[in-house]
Amino acid sequence: DAQRLRHELGGMHGASYGRYKSLTGSWRFDGFTLQVQRVQPDPYAPASRVQVTVDADHAALPAELHDNPVRARALAGHLVRQLHRALGDSRLRVDAGDQQVLDRSSCQIRQGAVRVRMGIDLPGRGRTIDGRAAERTLCDELPEAVETALRWSTADQQQARAFVDSVEDTHALREALTERGWVAFVADGATLPRRSGIDERPLTSGVAFSSPESMRATVHLPHRGEVTGMAVPEGITLIVGGGFHGKSTLLRALEQGVYDHVPGDGRELVVARADTAKVRAEDGRRVHRVDVSPFVSHLPTGADTRDFSTDNASGSTSQAAAITEAVEAGARVLLVDEDTAATNLMIRDARMQALVAKDAEPLTPFVDLIRPLRATHGVSTVLVMGGSGDYMDVADRVLMMDAYRARDVTDHARELSQARPTGRRSEADSYPPLGHRVVDPRSIPTERPKVRARGTDALTLGESTVELRGVEQIVDASQVTGIGLALVSCARRGALDGRASIAEVLEALAADIAERGVEAVDERFVGDFAVPRPLEVAAALNRLRVLRVSALRR
Ligand code: ADP
Ligand code: MG
Repeated sequence: DAQRLRHELGGMHGASYGRYKSLTGSWRFDGFTLQVQRVQPDPYAPASRVQVTVDADHAALPAELHDNPVRARALAGHLVRQLHRALGDSRLRVDAGDQQVLDRSSCQIRQGAVRVRMGIDLPGRGRTIDGRAAERTLCDELPEAVETALRWSTADQQQARAFVDSVEDTHALREALTERGWVAFVADGATLPRRSGIDERPLTSGVAFSSPESMRATVHLPHRGEVTGMAVPEGITLIVGGGFHGKSTLLRALEQGVYDHVPGDGRELVVARADTAKVRAEDGRRVHRVDVSPFVSHLPTGADTRDFSTDNASGSTSQAAAITEAVEAGARVLLVDEDTAATNLMIRDARMQALVAKDAEPLTPFVDLIRPLRATHGVSTVLVMGGSGDYMDVADRVLMMDAYRARDVTDHARELSQARPTGRRSEADSYPPLGHRVVDPRSIPTERPKVRARGTDALTLGESTVELRGVEQIVDASQVTGIGLALVSCARRGALDGRASIAEVLEALAADIAERGVEAVDERFVGDFAVPRPLEVAAALNRLRVLRVSALRR
């Protein structure tokens, strides 16, 4: 077959571009099968798609490297990076990802066989086929890359094992959080800062993390053994410190701690619980039928804030909606940074309370709801706030970033709370029960709608564009595609049935993903996607401008 493909491509040389279509189908090579899934109609169209399945006995990967879902994902993550490297500047392109080890459609290991999906720009000269270049890519470069990157006998075996073990350790550390009553863990020696705002690789010249003694804990991991670091307990944790002292960098590392990072990233042992959501203000976004009443009462428009909708939210109402939506979707740890929060939703100090009477201010600040939210719904918060001392009264822990070093200043903050009362009155003593919304399934198109990512900024879903810039835990464009596909799949398979609440739909999706992995997100799509977290699927759903909520359950 490989010979036949060579012959075929040679024969096509100079023919009209459309003849490439005839390649569609399977081609058997020594040790693997090449499947041409979709052929581009012309050289300027989106790349053609191919799938390569390497036989299990040809790949010969040791079973212990893929004998559970975490290890299988890690090994796939390693292999796809090797393949990416082996392909170099070939026309074949594979979605390998950057710092996070995500479950990707581009590389999956099934019963020892390796399935890889790639894009290829089939070479043309004007509108004719460049058969010789195509032959080089498919008949020479491809088998060579498979040989060097996807077979155990030629692999750097030590590196492969280290990669898999590292990811399994990260996973084990994250799993340990809940049973120990923690929301996050930052290992000593971790590198938190990144090279720049557009380069996620580690800043190697940075100050390595070291834990304050009072928060130091030890965890035993399956491969590395004992590691020490800072355990962030459940409850309210306040991060203070001077500007530019590393507060946001620490919070950002916690945000990303829901993912496993590649060895060398510096955040391999920085983890946050899977039910962690970063929330922020995002003015201009749409909000549809969200109960923001804990935060917002009596708006000047007279709108019912228990069932609040707007096509153009303000900073404060968008953040109130983000908090409600995150908790509705199952988040039990919230991360908030002063840099991206709405000040008037965060604080209202004693002077302002005196000047503007409560009945002239629709907002109840988060400082008065943070403890009720914890008491009633078990929601912990980690909050960066360097500009106001009002949160000292409500924090269980106060952590200070001081020239990139973390110090526990809880005791001092407590003394100050007593010695210098703020004089403000609390404006809330309880948090109401959570509402549950039911989505009208017709909000999501089901007939093979267009699903496309615009980087990590936006998702095109059918006729609509979903703005995702405010969803900060999205790290990879393939996740955006995965979110779109997951929404369509929920609608197609009847999980969105007009009766189930958003939380129930997400739970069903999570269970399906746990069982079937990428196939739960989509079985038919030949493009690249990564399995998204349910919290980001919810965040996208909530930002869909055509979303219709058919019922509100309390
Ligand atoms: P803050 O939120 O306290 O104002 P940031 O977290 O934004 O500060 O950090 C300010 C700068 O310091 C950023 O450029 C960041 O990359 C850098 N930085 C953060 N942590 C470290 C560290 N541990 N070592 C070196 N540089 C760091
Ligand atoms: Mg900051």
